[in-house]
Amino acid sequence: MRPEILNPLFADVTALPGVGPKIAPLIAKAAGPRVADVLFTLPAGLIDRRARPKLADAPFGQLATVEVTVDRHDPPRARRQPYRVICSDETGFLTLVFFHPKEDYLRRALPEGTRRIVSGRIEEYGGVRQMTHPDHIVDPEKAGDMPLIEPVYPLTAGLSNTLMRKAVRAALARAPVVPEWQDAAWLARRGWPGWREALRAVHAPETPDALAPTRPERQRLAYDELLANQLALALIRRARIKSAGRPVRGDGRLRALAAKALPFALTGDQRRALEEILADMAAPERMVRLVQGDVGSGKTVVALLAMLNAVEAGAQAAMMAPTEILARQHLESCAPVCAAAGVAVDMLTGRDKGAAREEKLARLASGEIQILFGTHALFQESVAFRDLALVVVDEQHRFGVHQRMALAQKGPRPDMLVMTATPIPRTLALTAYGDMDASLIREKPPGRKPVLTRTIPVERLQEVVAAVRRAADAGEQIYWVCPLVEESDALDLVAAEERHEALKPHLGERVGLVHGRMSAAEKDAVMEAFYEGRLSVLVATTVIEVGVNAPNATIMVVEHAERFGLAQLHQLRGRVGRGDRRAVCLLLYQGPLGETAKARLKILRETDDGFRIAEEDLRLRGAGDLLGAAQSGFPQFRIADLAAHGELLAAARDDARLVVEKDPDLKSARGAALRVLLYLFSRDDAVRLLRAG
Ligand code: ADP
Ligand code: MG
Repeated sequence: MRPEILNPLFADVTALPGVGPKIAPLIAKAAGPRVADVLFTLPAGLIDRRARPKLADAPFGQLATVEVTVDRHDPPRARRQPYRVICSDETGFLTLVFFHPKEDYLRRALPEGTRRIVSGRIEEYGGVRQMTHPDHIVDPEKAGDMPLIEPVYPLTAGLSNTLMRKAVRAALARAPVVPEWQDAAWLARRGWPGWREALRAVHAPETPDALAPTRPERQRLAYDELLANQLALALIRRARIKSAGRPVRGDGRLRALAAKALPFALTGDQRRALEEILADMAAPERMVRLVQGDVGSGKTVVALLAMLNAVEAGAQAAMMAPTEILARQHLESCAPVCAAAGVAVDMLTGRDKGAAREEKLARLASGEIQILFGTHALFQESVAFRDLALVVVDEQHRFGVHQRMALAQKGPRPDMLVMTATPIPRTLALTAYGDMDASLIREKPPGRKPVLTRTIPVERLQEVVAAVRRAADAGEQIYWVCPLVEESDALDLVAAEERHEALKPHLGERVGLVHGRMSAAEKDAVMEAFYEGRLSVLVATTVIEVGVNAPNATIMVVEHAERFGLAQLHQLRGRVGRGDRRAVCLLLYQGPLGETAKARLKILRETDDGFRIAEEDLRLRGAGDLLGAAQSGFPQFRIADLAAHGELLAAARDDARLVVEKDPDLKSARGAALRVLLYLFSRDDAVRLLRAG
């Protein structure tokens, strides 16, 4: 149960004075639905009202704070006209403009002949310098009433900064006194304030550099958030290690047969990863291991050999992919090797229905099927294995920690192997996979030629179309990926459909279209036509992004490359260049590009190392954008900024592991306070793993 002192923070924002049913949804949209969300929404910028330029020096289009004399009021003469107040200083005039004003209020605030400080945006309208609805109007004698530095919050249409600031102030007033969950010596060493003090400070910046992530109050709050994340992962990890698995130790018989059937030898990294996995499986604790390897680094075969180890030990294994197409590819690439080893494999997806499905489930329950490939359908309630010893989850970033925990419920504590092709920076890996051990495959299989990558302005589209046509005529295959539009499937689709239509006159029936709105059967049909070479060009939304393998594809065209994450572009690029022919990746972009966008595309041209790309992308864009929020299984941080707080993350990891080692059930005084911290960041799942106390 969440401690009572946190209740005010978990209340709906309507609990805040001044936040009624009209404003609440706006605040919910800009910050979140609860009081804590408001509290954790940090200012995105500042308004600085310290400068006092003369009117002649105040630039148009910018906020200015000026001291003027009120010359005269000019009330509207027609209904739709605004109310005007003409002011001046010794360098020029300024007209204050008010729509629907209360005249008596204006007369009181701006008496003719007095001096006033007004602050707001200065604009030019019909040759006249004016300011519409000033933010502040104050008597110079009372200049102290006007905040000189004001925080500016992320807003949404209809929500003014003033309203948001009021909500923040009200939320601050409700912030409870909490027990200190940070180590006192650590706080003292870093010079960090207490929790409430830190919150107050981040919302009351006093100088323009107060928003820097290096400020003590920001660091304090970021560390809280990171510690909650790391502590939750450490508790989950500990609970799992405690829950005994079983030793799974094959005799190598099937693996030897498989090795003979494979047309290649494992690379050093593949061998090392496999050895780590086999050692984990042999141990009595449960394995939860991450295999991180760039696109095309050959993770599948490593997983297959691990699954054969389970079968050798008399048990079953399952491999889950995020899409049906991928599941099918896994099956197809593994089936020949399994056949050579005499191992029975099958596939289960959402398309299996009725009697055929029942029959499959029966063979699974009897243990006749030894390795099962599939999608999420593998983990429906009705699916029962005879003895599942190993679960492989491919393309991990589509699943979060919670799904990982749910999956592990199948079977008598199966070992778990998680594979991701998205190279992620070390810091990010720590936040998402801190509960797992990791194997890295960095080395690529021999003979791979790097993909030639070029960035091309979209104005040269016709040249690209011509080149694609020439390549198609020469028997090559081309992927054409259409832009990601604001996370919206519908718009993605329009873009892809239009491109498909536009390419038809050039390529006729050789161009196909695949997108996320098609049924699985439709998708498969198009994909199959592409693999079998009946289609030369495949226009696609990003559904092809993950894992799919078409060895004859040599050209990857990406439209609006500037809208994609680098890791995503790198994955797309990895789709080509699997055969012997030189592959090309053409990144079409819509100019003009900003500095960051330019730098990002440049990295892709320069390196093929997914890990370096990921680190650079994190540095340039910050973690939030890295993978596209919607599809990432990554925790989203409110306060911590992984690009700026990487060092804190490492400290939080060590801190968390130490706490769990010394006080595994969080029973000490600090432990009790840390429980509050976990609840504050909604890690109730981790608290539930603790013994009561
Ligand atoms: P990913 O890591 O992206 O899942 P895959 O497992 O699909 O990569 O492997 C990509 C390709 O590389 C496959 O065609 C696979 O057969 C091949 N491959 C894997 N390991 C090796 C190796 N050691 N030597 C040569 N080719 C390999
Ligand atoms: Mg793969």
